[in-house]
Order: sequence, then structure tokens, then C-alpha cells
Amino acid sequence: MGALEKMLQASNSLATCVDRIRADFPILNLKIGDKSLVYLDNAASSQMPQFVIDRLVRYQTTQHANIHRAVHHLSEVATHEYEVARRKLQHFINAREDKEVIFTSGTTDAINLVMHGYGRKFIQKGDEIILTHLEHHSNIVPWQMLAQEKEAIIRVVPINDSGELLVDEYEKLFNANTRFVGLTHVSNALGTINPIKEMIAFAHQRGVPVLIDGAQAAAHLTVDVQALDCDFYVFSAHKLCGPTGIGILYGKAHQLEAMQPYKGGGDMISSVSFEKTTYNTIPYKFEAGTPPIAAAIGFGAAIDYLSNIGLDAIAQYEHELLTYATERLSIIPGVTIIGNSASKVAVISFTMDGIHPHDVGTLLNEEGVAIRTGHHCAQPVMQRFNIPATSRASFSFYNTKDEVDALIEGIQIVKKVFLS
Ligand code: PMP
Repeated sequence: MGALEKMLQASNSLATCVDRIRADFPILNLKIGDKSLVYLDNAASSQMPQFVIDRLVRYQTTQHANIHRAVHHLSEVATHEYEVARRKLQHFINAREDKEVIFTSGTTDAINLVMHGYGRKFIQKGDEIILTHLEHHSNIVPWQMLAQEKEAIIRVVPINDSGELLVDEYEKLFNANTRFVGLTHVSNALGTINPIKEMIAFAHQRGVPVLIDGAQAAAHLTVDVQALDCDFYVFSAHKLCGPTGIGILYGKAHQLEAMQPYKGGGDMISSVSFEKTTYNTIPYKFEAGTPPIAAAIGFGAAIDYLSNIGLDAIAQYEHELLTYATERLSIIPGVTIIGNSASKVAVISFTMDGIHPHDVGTLLNEEGVAIRTGHHCAQPVMQRFNIPATSRASFSFYNTKDEVDALIEGIQIVKKVFLS
């Protein structure tokens, strides 16, 4: 057992091990000018521990070849490691079978896969798709493209002033034409955790399949796709300490088998002639061409790293950070937190009276504090609150209360610069 595992076992909170955890992330030692980096942009992309970096280097230096198509040693090793990574993802989300995990280039790609593979086959003129007001553009635009092509109708679940879905209104949107639900597990703009289990059950009672956008959830909450009973669950590695360019689509086997392929090419076929092509079985039917092999293996290593710490311990510690940061931010005059759901991950969106979020972000950067400003690819959320943009601080298990303090001090400096 490693030193970190021993410390984790002996403690009640990650707080006691956070220095040890931070030592795993070389990038956290960076200086921005003469200030220490305070990285609070984890909802956009999290950082990579040395463990994952080393795994990528080991793959490239000793294991790389193209997969699935040769009998030589390296190709067998690479194929094996790629399939091992798939099984790590399967266990991470408790999927029933490894073939239910499709590697994609990320969340956006996975949603587009479902739109093309399921939507274009099964959704017809006059059919209705339910989305929510909390969706990222990735879970809006593909469905709008489909609705336009098929003359289908999009219905939207509204939210209240705290940024919570109105579940009663969701239930009222169902009718005989409802064919599909697309629903985010966690809002990237506000941090709201949605009651997806109940919402999935409601849709299933009416025979309607549900896709869950787990991009903001998978790094922060334990996800069990069998317990949730969702038809599809999607997320990207780069928000889970893994590489960019890789993510997964989980789909129930019977749904994936019924779907048409999204991309045609090598590896996704069983046989090809100019008269007729037959497709491979899942998951390969949806993995045309050479996949990002190194990234998939790195994703597997990131899953090992997170699982070693434990998602329950991560969720508990990040909640401590959220509570502390919310308390400190909410007493600053002129600061308004947007999104006050009782059930949130450690994402805080806020506005400052008389100061544009872009200026907040720029001045915080001078203090070494990295946050994100803008509409966060969730313009409908901004429209709901009648604002063009917010500043968003998003935390990970390697952040500390000292870093929350640095954010608060930075905000005081922003106020002094702009308002005095
Ligand atoms: N959905 C949500 C909720 C997100 O936060 C993001 C990333 N910001 C995406 C989808 C898109 O993820 P990616 O850019 O990795 O495809």
C-alpha cells in the first residue's frame, strides 16, 4: 500500500492529505508572474497527476502500435491496454458489460453520436424531445439540429431562482409524442445537482429513454449507471484528471445495438463490398478509424488515480470547500452568488455590482487566481438570470481553504481597483 493510501485510510477527510495529493500535480507548483498559481477552473478542465503523465510516457515509449489489426507483439500489447482501459471505465460507472462503453473524443462527440445514431433513426416529425434550461450548449445544439431536420419539437424544463429544475413542470411536459429526454447530471454554470434518478424513472414509466450529460458529475460524485438506470451517460476525461480528446458514451447494450453507426470507416465493419457492408458488433460499431489509443489508456490511469482516492471522499472534501467558499463570498458586499441550490457540487458562479466578469477574471489572474468568466456555454442559464456572464470558481479535491482565501483576497483587490 502506498503512502497516500495509508494516509487516506487513517483520516476522516482529504483535508489532512491535501498537501500530499497536491505533490502529485506538478502544474500546481507554477508561478503566474510572482504569484503562486491558484487553479479554480476545474469545471473547464482539471489538471493531470504525474501518475497519468507517467502512464502516457510509458505507453508511448514501450507499448505504442495501432490496435485491433495485427498479430505482432506491440499491437497485441496496445490492444490489450486499450481494452483494459475500457474495463476500468466500465467498473468506474458500474456498467453491466464492457461493450456498453464506447470511446469517443469527449462529451460533445458522445452526445452527437446519440443524436445521429439514435435520434436520426428513431425520432420523426412531430416527436418531442425534453431538455432542461440548465443544459450546456453541447446538449442543446445537436438536438436542435435534429429537430430542424426531422421537424421535431424541443420542450424545455424551467428552473427556479435558485437554479433548480422544476420537476413538476418536467412531468407536465410529457405527452404521447415525447420520445427522448436529455438531461444534465450537474449544471456546469451553477453547480446544481439534478434529481436525475427520479426524473429517469418518470421518463421510463412512459417508455421514454434518457441521456445524462455527466460532464460535470463524473469527477465529483459516485456514478452507478445501473442504479440510475439511464439509457446513456456521457463524460470527458479532461475533467477527471485525464487527457483531452477522449471521453465515453455509456449506453445500454440493447439501445446501442439498435442504433445506426455515426461514423463510417475502418474497424467499425464486419465486411465490406461495393454491394453491401455489414457492421461490427458494439462497441466497435461506433469506433471507426484509429482511436486516440494513448488518451484512452491515460483515461484508464486517471480512473485508477481517482478511484484510489475514492469518489465519496472527494465529494465530501469538495463539499467542505464549497461551504467555506460560499460563506466567505456571500458576506462580501456587492457580490451575488448565482445558483443557490441546496444540492450543489463545488462550483460557484457570481457577479460583482458594477464590474464586468471579464475584468474580474483579468484582475484575479494578476493575483495568480485562475477562474473562468463568460456564459460558460450555457447562454440559456444566463438569459434566465438576465445577465450576460458570470465569474465562476470551480474546485477540485486538490484545492485548499488557503486557495479559497486567495480568491477572496483577490476579489477584495478587484473591488478596490474598480470601485474606489
Ligand atoms: N456538458 C457539460 C455539462 C460541460 O460542462 C461540458 C464542458 N464544459 C460539456 C458538456 C462539453 O464537454 P467537452 O467540451 O469535453 O466535449
